[in-house]
Amino acid sequence: MDWSISKLLNLRQCHRKFYFAHELASHHFTHPVRRKAFELTQSKSLKMWQGSLVDFAFSEILIAMYQNKEVPDFSALANEITDIASLQYEFSRKQLYRQKGMSKTKAGEEFLVLDIHERGLPYCEDDISEIYATVSDIIMQIPEYGSPEAGKSLHEYLMTSNFLRPNINYWHYQFEDMRIKPQIDLVRYRGKAIHVIDWKVSDSDSSDYSMQLYLAGIVAYHNIKKDFQAKGWDLPKMEDVSLFEINLMNGNIKEHAFSRESTAAALDYVYRFRNEQEQLSSVQKWDELNIEDYQTTDKKETCALCKFKPLCIHLILNNFRYDEREYYQLVQNQQLA
Ligand code: SF4
Repeated sequence: MDWSISKLLNLRQCHRKFYFAHELASHHFTHPVRRKAFELTQSKSLKMWQGSLVDFAFSEILIAMYQNKEVPDFSALANEITDIASLQYEFSRKQLYRQKGMSKTKAGEEFLVLDIHERGLPYCEDDISEIYATVSDIIMQIPEYGSPEAGKSLHEYLMTSNFLRPNINYWHYQFEDMRIKPQIDLVRYRGKAIHVIDWKVSDSDSSDYSMQLYLAGIVAYHNIKKDFQAKGWDLPKMEDVSLFEINLMNGNIKEHAFSRESTAAALDYVYRFRNEQEQLSSVQKWDELNIEDYQTTDKKETCALCKFKPLCIHLILNNFRYDEREYYQLVQNQQLA
């Protein structure tokens, strides 16, 4: 079984939400309800979009430049990202994601579904201009951010790496009958030091992402050891590995201890919740599953922030039968506000 912390977090919030995101959603247009669940899975609030633009600039463009030892032109990058942002905005405003045959691959970096367009939520043009300005300011500030190495800016830290390995989603660690396969944003090597880095793009630093990072550390350590062994190199020790959360919105850095205690606690967490995930991670086909087996939550705060809220309400009101015309009518009538 593939074990995923994001699946578990969805599941613990609401079983129905888990169903929409992990059982029903499909990018194919064959079944409109599945396509709608997919579009809602992809949808972003304006704040999330702002974060994703900064993340894109970092993970897709900047890190590749640092890998090639190129000195980035931050002002040109800020302009490039603003241009991409306005293409994305137009894509979402025209609802091109609803066009038959449209896929993320076909749309490339323009693909975007904003909840203001999908759900008709209120916004004003100033909100959009503010996002362009904020993203541009953040990109210009990046060279000044601090880094996990004392006395070095983030720019110097990345420039002086021996090796950078970004966006790893192919490493896994087998634990009992579960495959732990987290997304690892970056592994940075310098001398013996191995840094496992998780980029954050949220305004708040209060959320706890430590579990995600401990699991990323376990998977990275295990795979790096295998890699070094195959090359006949000295094996890394646990104390060579450090875990960092770096918030790209404000430059704040949090270190999480990579120790026998923290990794044992993380694996214990996986073990404790394995049944919960296994129970609902069905191997059945989507049309053999019954939506009513997936309970809704009674927590209003969870529903208020849920991407699937319009679909969830529509299906309940419509006896679990999806009717696209009625769904859009419901959205238009703002009954969901
Ligand atoms: S709207 Fe509420 S009940 Fe429905 S899927 Fe979302 S969180 Fe669950």
